[in-house]
Amino acid sequence: MSLAPGRTRLLDDRFARELPEMAVPWQAVEAPAPRLLVLNEPLASELGLDPDQLREPDGVRFLLGNRVPSGAAPVAQAYAGHQFGGFNPRLGDGRALLLGELVDRDGRVRDLHLKGSGRTPFARGGDGLAVVGPMLREHVVSEAMHALGIPTTRSLAVTATGRPVQRETLLPGAVLTRVASSHLRVGSFQFAAATGDLGLLRRLADHAVARHHAQAAQADDPYLALFASVVAAQASLVARWMLVGFVHGVMNTDNTTISGETIDYGPCAFLDAYDPATVFSSIDETGRYAYGNQPVVAEWNLARLAEALLPLLADDQDRAVALAVEALEQFRPRYRAAWSAGMRAKLGLPDGLVDAVTDPLVDELLALLEHSGADLTSTFRLLCGAADGDVEPVRGQVLDLAAFDGWLARWRALGPDAAAMRRVNPAYVPRNHLVEQALTAATAGDLDPLGRLLDAVTSPFDERPGLDHYAAPAPAGLGAYRTFCGT
Ligand code: AMP
Ligand code: MG
Repeated sequence: MSLAPGRTRLLDDRFARELPEMAVPWQAVEAPAPRLLVLNEPLASELGLDPDQLREPDGVRFLLGNRVPSGAAPVAQAYAGHQFGGFNPRLGDGRALLLGELVDRDGRVRDLHLKGSGRTPFARGGDGLAVVGPMLREHVVSEAMHALGIPTTRSLAVTATGRPVQRETLLPGAVLTRVASSHLRVGSFQFAAATGDLGLLRRLADHAVARHHAQAAQADDPYLALFASVVAAQASLVARWMLVGFVHGVMNTDNTTISGETIDYGPCAFLDAYDPATVFSSIDETGRYAYGNQPVVAEWNLARLAEALLPLLADDQDRAVALAVEALEQFRPRYRAAWSAGMRAKLGLPDGLVDAVTDPLVDELLALLEHSGADLTSTFRLLCGAADGDVEPVRGQVLDLAAFDGWLARWRALGPDAAAMRRVNPAYVPRNHLVEQALTAATAGDLDPLGRLLDAVTSPFDERPGLDHYAAPAPAGLGAYRTFCGT
């Protein structure tokens, strides 16, 4: 069979070759009774892979890492990380493998990666496995994020392994086949720095420059330029999260990419009611990774990246610190600019307006939403209609109508563009109660609700008849939503 017609070598092993100290050659555990649950056909085609072949038994074995193409050398990647603020010098892929790098149809290098492929030398106490629900959750949410135009790792497939996995109960096992522009993390740099091997750190930085921030290679100081690029990419990414109400849930430094893609969807969820203090994850007891804290945490994680890079920035430590601080100071203005531009677009306002006009408008709207417990996604979508003059539906979202009517009048006087608003304010996001319903059904063997949810959230701006249920907030009385890390 040929998964990718016309190619002699499907997967490269560049990471393993260039950074052997951070790559442990390893094999995926054999799946006893594989069953493909979901295949992302458009993504397969983008990668130059034949979807029909991927559905064949040998294709499914490829998606599980049980059939390794010739020349490929799967590895578990080493990385470190600050988890909830505490440093762990050795995390690494405990249940994941990098199968290798593939060149897509557009000539871009993409990692092909597995999650749930068995214990590795980094597994510590873990079983190395993953279960159907959380892997489908990553599939749905990452594909929804992609459709929203937010940089993210992608999901190529989720395959049930036929192996029961012990969690609180016995659950069906699964492997996620993931695609990323790379799996380099802030924690990768922390790992290299912690070894004290400057040559390794430099090779890692060179590898990152080549893969993600090629323009940094031309700069006077490529490593400082690399850091500045990561700062810019993360500032933009987190602003995009905030604009759609996405809460990552575990923003540890090992879950923060160098590419600026969203990675490692664990206890993530979308806001319903707008409230900056919102936390969904059951393990985030102090609210470290609350919705409203995400920009500050991203900046903190970038400070940890700066620390790891210091030896490459200058021989003199004080000089290195000064350079890093100056670059990191760009985070806040960049974040602010991305957020403000995004909010202006969400409100359909022309580009030319000055911040002094738009910022108070945005702040006042968000205060009204918070006070009303209004649903973030619905309110902005209903504002699209209000821009066309249909103000009653959105008035139903807000409690203080006197204040809101004043706000609406001032906003409408600026001439908001309803059609432009409908291109940036999604009608459909993977709402928590819908995701739970779809995953519960899928775990019990019924994939139809998942398919319907995927249809809705992968065309999020295109409002369609019959999908009202996907646009509506959770029914009252469901209680506070909690997500669990027991993945
Ligand atoms: P995460 O919370 O998914 O970002 O994972 C944090 C660390 O725990 C990483 O090193 C993972 O590889 C590891 N890990 C998570 N779950 C398991 C598991 N079931 N078995 C082995 N390692 C795991
Ligand atoms: Mg992780």
